This record gives sequence, C-alpha cells and structure tokens, in this order.
Amino acid sequence: MSLVEGGEVKKITDYEKLIKYFGVSKIEPILDRFKEPHRLLKRNIVFAHRDFDKILDEVDKGNIFAVLSGRGPSDRMHLGHLTLYEFNLYLQKKMGANVYIPFSDDEKYVFKKVESLEKAKYLALDNALDIIALGYDPRKTECFISTELPWVYKTAIKLSRHLTYSTVKAVFGFKGENNPGEIFYSCIQMAHILYPILVYNLPTVVPVAIDQDPYIRISRDVAEKIRVFKPAGIYLKYLRGLTGEPMSSSQPETCIFATDSPEEARKKIWNAFTGGQPTVKEQREKGGNPDICVVYEMLNIYFIEDDKEMEKLRSDCINGNILCGECKLKLTDYVIKFLEKHKREREKYKYKLKEFFIHEIDEDLLAKLP
Ligand code: SF4
Repeated sequence: MSLVEGGEVKKITDYEKLIKYFGVSKIEPILDRFKEPHRLLKRNIVFAHRDFDKILDEVDKGNIFAVLSGRGPSDRMHLGHLTLYEFNLYLQKKMGANVYIPFSDDEKYVFKKVESLEKAKYLALDNALDIIALGYDPRKTECFISTELPWVYKTAIKLSRHLTYSTVKAVFGFKGENNPGEIFYSCIQMAHILYPILVYNLPTVVPVAIDQDPYIRISRDVAEKIRVFKPAGIYLKYLRGLTGEPMSSSQPETCIFATDSPEEARKKIWNAFTGGQPTVKEQREKGGNPDICVVYEMLNIYFIEDDKEMEKLRSDCINGNILCGECKLKLTDYVIKFLEKHKREREKYKYKLKEFFIHEIDEDLLAKLP
C-alpha cells in the first residue's frame, strides 16, 4: 500500500490501520506522563507518537526539548491549522519546550501552490502572525522563512549526500514530471526538521498530521547516518471541514479562517453538515447522531474544555433534547468570540513579530498585513 503520490499523501481515516502501516505507537499508554494533558490528548485527537517517550525521559530529567513545527505558506490559516499550533503552545507552556517554526516559501513556490516567492513570503508573515497571536513566548520561539536563512541551503546540500534519488522517489511517490526543485525540497525539509538538533543539540519532536510521517521517517534515517538525535513524532488525526469533507483553504466553505469576519463565520456554520434529522418533530422523536456531526466535532475539538459538558451535549443530541439550530448558535458564539479576540491579538503582536524571527523581515510586507 502506498500512501504517497507526487509528494502528496492520500488521506486515510482508519487510524488502527495507519498506526500499523506507519509503525507508530498509540498515545494512550503515555498519557499520564504529560503535565495537565491538553484537550486534544484527552480526546484522542493527538492519537499516536514515535519515540515521544524518549523526549518525556528528558523532561523527567528537567531537560529542555524542541518542538519543530513548520508551515507551508500558501494561503490564510484556518482553525484546523491553528489547532496544531495550539497544541505546540501547550508543549511550550506546560512542558517547557522551545518551539521552532520554519516557513517553507520555497516548498510552496516549487510545488506551484503560490504564483511567486514574494507572495509566499507575505503569507509566511501573515501565517506567523496568526500563530504567534495565540500567545507564544519570544524567548522560547524562533521563526524563519526558508529562503531567508542561508543555513538552510548549506545544510540541505550537506544532507543531500545521505539520500538517493530512488529513496526520495519511493518515499514521496515522485514521478517523471516532478521538477528538480520539488525533488531537492526533500533535502530542504530535512534541514528544517533537524534544525534544533543540529544548531542547539536539542532532542526534537515534530507534531504533524499522520500523513506527514514520511518526512519524519526520512529525516530519522539521515539523523541516524550522521549520528545525531533522531527526531520524534507526535501525530494528529485529520480534522473534517464544515461540510463534512476534508478542510481545505481552497474551499472557503469548509473552514473558518482566522481572519474571517463574524458574518462570514456565521454563514458557514449555519450551512454546516450535522447529524440531525430533517424535521424538528423527527429530531425530538429519534434524536441526532453526534458521531457524524461536524458541529459537535468542532465544539469537541476546538472549544469545550469541560468533559461533562460534552457528555451532556452528546446525550441531549441522542435523546432529541436539543436541536441543531441551538448547537449551531452555541458554536457561532464560540467562534465569534475567538475571532474577535484573535483580531485584537494580531494587532497587538503585529509590530512585535520581528522579535520572533531570527533574520530581518521585510517591513513593507509587514505593513501590508491585515
Ligand atoms: Fe449535531 Fe447538535 Fe444536531 Fe446533535 S443536535 S446532530 S450535536 S448539531
């Protein structure tokens, strides 16, 4: 079974199968080693890991570790993207991690997801602002744009000798029509992943959606060859979009962007896919199905911290004690509060963004950010 084709990984949601296929471990047995486990851990959205127990051994010894969490800037960020960075922020605040965020303008350019490098750089700053506005600590966070840091190219060149074209082709599923930039990008990405290990000698974990595991595996193989710490992985489940389809920035109706207006968010939530019945009467008689409901899923993943409140919502849904309109209003309320706060935080952090980057950033691009 190949999950990768042309550098894109197919989305499979049978998690037991994925755990076996990728040879990763379930998160459950190590859950009590996390300090105040985050909602995403308790609800099994962060569901698997590779060698994170080794990182926890370092935490137990009082040592610092690194979280490496890159972002490909090809569009605005939506709530699904921010979930990963909310989890990384938890690792920084509660587990003491330093967080490193490379923005791969080069990747989005060579894979033709943006029309120019300039556009990718602008989006990198816009995305960085969304991430940093969640509340990152500048003393424990480093950001860089890939083409702006000469270290990346030099390291990618050095690492390239430890890979062969057939490995890259097999791991990423490249075909004859891929351009050389796409193929070399595998070396660039290895440099990103190994950055905190090579520069700071820090044990590193890479939290990603499970489909990104091939990138971690290839970096682990090379780390072993050059005798440095092999990066660990933490894996998140795929998050569904509002329509029930995968969330995608190119289909705005599937996701809430961090910079959406309250009106845009309200409209999208009102059209969201639910597990409700076609009529109020049937809903009262038969109840709804929270297991297929996106509104329920969004409340569970993004907003409601209290487990008891989630249990009550679930039983109210199943027993027909609540209508979909009420849930949508509840979700809208949470989303709008988040968007309003996020807007204020973006404004606050806009001119502090420089403190998070380890190279100069373009002031003109910064001034253009919303
Ligand atoms: Fe979903 Fe709420 Fe409708 Fe149940 S009542 S299906 S949880 S929107």
